[in-house]
Amino acid sequence: MKTVKLGERVIEDRRKMEEILRSSKVGRLCFCLDGKPFIIPLNFAYDNGTIYVHGSDQGLKTEALRQHPSVCFEVDEFLGTVPASMPCEFDAAYQSVVAYGAVQVLETVDEKMVALRLIVTKYAGEEVAGTLSRSMVGEYRSERDRATTVVKIQVERMTGKCSIKGTEQV
Ligand SMILES: Cc1cc2nc3c(=O)[nH]c(=O)nc-3n(C[C@H](O)[C@H](O)[C@H](O)COP(=O)(O)OP(=O)(O)OC[C@H]3O[C@@H](n4cnc5c(N)ncnc54)[C@H](O)[C@@H]3O)c2cc1C
Repeated sequence: MKTVKLGERVIEDRRKMEEILRSSKVGRLCFCLDGKPFIIPLNFAYDNGTIYVHGSDQGLKTEALRQHPSVCFEVDEFLGTVPASMPCEFDAAYQSVVAYGAVQVLETVDEKMVALRLIVTKYAGEEVAGTLSRSMVGEYRSERDRATTVVKIQVERMTGKCSIKGTEQV
């Protein structure tokens, strides 16, 4: 695989990239289905080199991930417009991370519990996450009678970019 050239705006500190991954609320999961690119926005949790995602056990995403587990996952934050004296010198302040890895569908209730606790804690808080039970996780069906698939992406490598002057290497 080729090395990405990010120029002077590269984030080299893995801790900074992990901070961006942890604080982002929406990630974009990119994958291949029948040789074609596919992308969807998702909520997720990041912990210790692993991205966790959950959703319905049906649909193109689930089919694609079983067919072709190699994915990339992107998060970004647009921080604002940086004004300049000339319009063509205006800039955008942003930070973003692209992570690469392989998807693994979690099969056991214990594995799903770990992932769902992280996701629920992130979006609904610890109190709500504390009410998750093994039976709830094992037996849950949605209104459309669908089970929940929980997957993890073991991050093999990640790249980061940040356009905030002076903070690129933070
Ligand atoms: C902010 C946000 C957070 C989300 N969080 C989650 C989550 O945590 N878990 C989860 O399962 N889903 C989440 N979704 C919905 C997700 O983006 C998908 O729509 C959903 O997972 C169904 O994907 P699928 O591949 O099964 O689509 P399918 O139902 O199989 O539909 C496939 C078709 O719909 C199109 N499509 C699918 N999703 C989108 C989309 N979001 N926008 C435009 N076109 C679309 C595809 O291009 C394709 O043509 C979230 C969406 C948003 C915007």
